[in-house]
Amino acid sequence: MKNLKGKRILITGGAGFLGSHLCEKLLSHGHDVLCADNFFTGRKSNIAHLMDAPFFEVIRHDVCFPLYVEVDEIYNLACPASPVHYQTDPVQTVKTAVLGAINMLGLAKRLKIRILQASTSEVYGCPETHPQPEAYWGHVNPIGIRSCYDEGKRCAETLFFDYHRQHGLGIKVARIFNTYGPRMHPNDGRVISNFITQALLNMDMTIYGDGMQTRSFCYVDDLINGIVALMDSQDDITGPVNLGNPREVTMLTLAQTIKDLAGSKSRIVFKKRPADDPMRRRPDITMAREKLGWAPTATLEQGLKFTILYFEQFINKNGKHAALDEKDGIKPAVSSVHAGDEYMRPLASRLR
Ligand code: NAD
Ligand code: UDP
Repeated sequence: MKNLKGKRILITGGAGFLGSHLCEKLLSHGHDVLCADNFFTGRKSNIAHLMDAPFFEVIRHDVCFPLYVEVDEIYNLACPASPVHYQTDPVQTVKTAVLGAINMLGLAKRLKIRILQASTSEVYGCPETHPQPEAYWGHVNPIGIRSCYDEGKRCAETLFFDYHRQHGLGIKVARIFNTYGPRMHPNDGRVISNFITQALLNMDMTIYGDGMQTRSFCYVDDLINGIVALMDSQDDITGPVNLGNPREVTMLTLAQTIKDLAGSKSRIVFKKRPADDPMRRRPDITMAREKLGWAPTATLEQGLKFTILYFEQFINKNGKHAALDEKDGIKPAVSSVHAGDEYMRPLASRLR
């Protein structure tokens, strides 16, 4: 069956948290969506509800290897995003970021099509400029435990701009700041999934350090709108464009907010802070506002309520925790500095 209405769109990493929302959004716009994923951190359950859609297709594929398909646009999202996940196999993280970019850029070049890169605020490292505008070059440790991701994503941006300058390829680079919402993996170790599962289970809520470090959290629906607006923007808009919510909160405020919204009896406890953990992060979104007419709309409280509702489905009301699916226990994961802790072990064995 041929879809006469829409474009044929490849989404790498389409079974992940952001990718699954993007698949949904592009299908709802009448496009023909091909999801390519190796299911390293993505889950079939994220896209199960799309499997009967006539213009949705999935292939198990690792972007470290070339892919030969015929499409009209590529969104390159394949890459583990949470520190716990990307530090589990750092060499594979670099390969995914760099070889994945080379392979997808090669495909876009052959087909002469647009390609969007899901880059990250991590390219700014531990920033000395605040808030971060796109013109800031960053402050990144090249040899630390976050470097596999930060430098992998920086190299991917370099490749995108070199393909653009050298081959005239139509590129779009989105620098995504911390995003949260339904379908985050409860074991991903990111702060929002950890705090929500801990709060719902009345377990200790683990703040790393004194909780004075900040992040700015964007609700997933807003972020997906921004990504699609960037892809659909005029040819001369390549980015990089910051996409994120400029409201900045400390991890202490975040923990207290989630505890209150979840009606939890948890204690807030303090643990060692991971190496190279950025102290402050807030996007300057002037460029996105002016060039894309985009700005986030959901408040942190609204977004957290939706996310708590999502996680609540998996909590066994009378027991301590319930399985998300057969293999995934719903225990929060922790950073690799706490690798001796009990949560890390099931995670590491699940991932490989
Ligand atoms: P995620 O881990 O949920 O999704 C990543 C997806 O990529 C998963 O489905 C995973 O299985 C797949 N994948 C990983 N390695 C692959 C490989 N070699 N080949 C094919 N598929 C592979 O993470 P996410 O939060 O959905 O992030 C998606 C993208 O957005 C990533 O590129 C990430 O760097 C970027 N990003 C996310 C955030 C955020 O806050 N969520 C922030 C900045 C950037
Ligand atoms: N963090 C925390 N407790 C947790 C998990 C994370 O205090 O259980 C902190 C972490 O040290 C960092 C912030 O929350 O300062 C955001 O961490 P996350 O892993 O979600 O994202 P990133 O560091 O990549 O922005």
